[in-house]
Amino acid sequence: MPESAVQQLIRECSRARGVSLGTHYCELCPPHVQTPGNGEVHIISADGTIFCAPQMVGHYVTAHDYVLPPETVDALMAPRPFTWNDTAERLSAILHDEHSEVGWRVDAAMDLSNWQDARAWTALLHASQDEALVEVSDMQIGISMGIFWARQGRVDDAIYDSSLPQVRWGIYREMQRSRPDLATGLKRPPDGYDY
Ligand SMILES: [Zn+2]
Repeated sequence: MPESAVQQLIRECSRARGVSLGTHYCELCPPHVQTPGNGEVHIISADGTIFCAPQMVGHYVTAHDYVLPPETVDALMAPRPFTWNDTAERLSAILHDEHSEVGWRVDAAMDLSNWQDARAWTALLHASQDEALVEVSDMQIGISMGIFWARQGRVDDAIYDSSLPQVRWGIYREMQRSRPDLATGLKRPPDGYDY
């Protein structure tokens, strides 16, 4: 697989969805090696098709030479952000809908970072103020917001400063990862919410 596709896959694997209490260990590794995996990843193509795979797929590729199907490799290599489409519209609607299942809303908050559009931003901002949703999303809503701001090359200080601590941690971590130049200007979020 091309290196850029592998890197994008590893990135997606760092944002697993549907994580459960039980951990699966790789069955291809030697018995004395315990490589854990949990949850699944979403790989979205430019046309909005969402491919799902076990989160362990990144390990299968890097450690066991597994090769993803070509359409999935194409999806990983497609330049982001994507042009707004029906999938983005549907994900925004799920994220806005307070009656939608919480897990779906968190997934939508992660998936929407594939687009850079005012509609996706509005949905994310709305989600970032929903305490119940933020509580279960770890830092993922903040990470998606950070991806938006990293692409823009600018952080909105007023929104950052007024965000819930977990959201701020997500933004902060994403800036440290992708835009350290912007991270240096951000106030470190309070301890105890970095998970
Ligand atoms: Zn393995």
